[in-house]
Amino acid sequence: MSLLARKIRLIMKLRKSGITDTAVLGAIERVPREAFIPPMFHDQAYEDTALPIGCHQTISQPLTVAMMTQELRVNDRHKVLEIGTGSGYQASILSRLCRRVYSIERHRPLLAMAEQRFNELRVRNITCKAADGMKGWIEQAPFDRIIVTAAASAEPPEMLMAQMSIGGIMILPMGRDKSSQFIYRITRTETGYDTEKLMPTRFVPLLPNVARNEPEPPDTTIADAINAGETQAVGADADDGDDSFFFSAAPALQPV
Ligand code: SAH
Repeated sequence: MSLLARKIRLIMKLRKSGITDTAVLGAIERVPREAFIPPMFHDQAYEDTALPIGCHQTISQPLTVAMMTQELRVNDRHKVLEIGTGSGYQASILSRLCRRVYSIERHRPLLAMAEQRFNELRVRNITCKAADGMKGWIEQAPFDRIIVTAAASAEPPEMLMAQMSIGGIMILPMGRDKSSQFIYRITRTETGYDTEKLMPTRFVPLLPNVARNEPEPPDTTIADAINAGETQAVGADADDGDDSFFFSAAPALQPV
């Protein structure tokens, strides 16, 4: 089956699964997901599954990306903060729907690859930095929308709450372990915050600080050779805090 046929099948599945926002579906249709994953997984680019991207991290399942984007209720006047750039795929989807995306990643090699992809795809409204996203991006605050693509344990990070504008929305996964994570929507009002529990999910954890001791991104040929032997490895705990670059964990995000 061609990539295009697979993409059409995926869009139909997203529609059946409750993605009714045509702007979100349009963005999913136009952003080439294969450009955000290692070549050896290209044939799976339009399966509804998470895939390894290096540094024990995963590109999220398309349905999760679509749901979170839809629930974020973003428009073309919004300034959006993303925590967890990862492959850059979610940021690219958002970049088509809002004015500007600020995205923070703690793994420098992932950030470097994501920025290269933004350049190649000529995406001009995403600004990134390597930092601890739990602290937000104080110089650019407040944000109309915040999306966190790694799971907080019990409480939303305080500094992110403080950087929401009045009327602003934050979408984030939270839960102590992967079997009890839910996606929440927090809305900032004049007087406080409203919290809604949306749906169960499975995300890699939100970890503090910038990851250290990482090698530079390897060239694709070496990465492919090494990764080819490792795709069978199983490991639900995608980020155990060690900073090796190569893929060794199975996708942490599974359909829920
Ligand atoms: N949005 C990404 C998928 C993210 S996976 C995509 O579209 O591909 C979660 C990402 O969050 C990982 O890359 C992980 O390194 C990052 N992360 C975890 N904790 C973080 C933190 N405190 N600050 C910034 N990034 C963080």
